[in-house]
Amino acid sequence: MVKDKATADAVLQGIKDYYVNMSPGELVKIEVSNSVKLVEKFVNPDEIITAEAAKNLILKGTLELATYKVKQGDTLWTIAKEQNMPLDDLIKANPQLKSENKLALGEVINLKSIKPLLDVTVTKKVTYQEPLAFETQVVKDDTMWKWDQKVKQPGENGTKEVAAQVVYKNGIKVGQEVLSEKVLKEPVTRIVARGTRAEVAFRGSGRFLWPSVGKITSPFGRRGREFHTGIDVAADRGTPIRASNSGTVTFAGRKGSYGNLVIINHGGGFETYYAHASSILVSVGDKVEKGQQIATVGTTGRTTGPHVHFEVRLNGNPQNPLSYLNK
Ligand SMILES: [Zn+2]
Repeated sequence: MVKDKATADAVLQGIKDYYVNMSPGELVKIEVSNSVKLVEKFVNPDEIITAEAAKNLILKGTLELATYKVKQGDTLWTIAKEQNMPLDDLIKANPQLKSENKLALGEVINLKSIKPLLDVTVTKKVTYQEPLAFETQVVKDDTMWKWDQKVKQPGENGTKEVAAQVVYKNGIKVGQEVLSEKVLKEPVTRIVARGTRAEVAFRGSGRFLWPSVGKITSPFGRRGREFHTGIDVAADRGTPIRASNSGTVTFAGRKGSYGNLVIINHGGGFETYYAHASSILVSVGDKVEKGQQIATVGTTGRTTGPHVHFEVRLNGNPQNPLSYLNK
């Protein structure tokens, strides 16, 4: 009970202001759901309370609010334990806390759930910005190997502005409706190029290049008691040895009677070998182009004179290179 109608009106307005100021945004409407009746009557002066007390009574549901002042080192958990109350109840009693983990020194915590005497619903219009996620587009690139991929354009998030109507009941958010969205900045699509280039099924189509220009001094096949797994192409020491097709270097170094050897994998089960090189110009993992110089003719390993020993292997089995070389 307060002393007069003006005070009662002020109390009611104070309550409305309290909830309106509690949340951000532009006020759309405010509703007091319980019907409020102001009644004038004579009462004992002891029963008259101040406007401030009346406002607190309506907001908190009680005049004697059990509270606790935060001390150094307090957390909601330690307070709940000390007050011998469930942590969940303590959290519910303090919806005003932004974080359950950070309490300000001297902050006043409610130890009992607040049950306001009036239900005040505040509707507000708020605008905020949200990121707009970028999309990824994959483009095919026939100049790249199919196992390669590279980012041609990095993606960038855009920004949108959202206008929403938010409903708060007694200061607690209970609903939200998006009114409109406006794109402030379009996202930038991430573009990834994926290679499509693959070498498959040559089958004697003559698509391999000669590794060097010269005479065949030893053909593929039986050679006395041995089997010659490639052809020997004679050339002067230092003559370039070229990749007979594009592919990936899988071996580059010394290997027994091969001497300095380069092996290139062309995909589709095909490999080519280039032996006896005097020097090697590529490393394992290098992607080489058809016709690219990979080594120079030499006499390393078991040879009688400078030549390149050239092999074509399909699934590991030596093939007659002449079936694959341009005539
Ligand atoms: Zn040979």
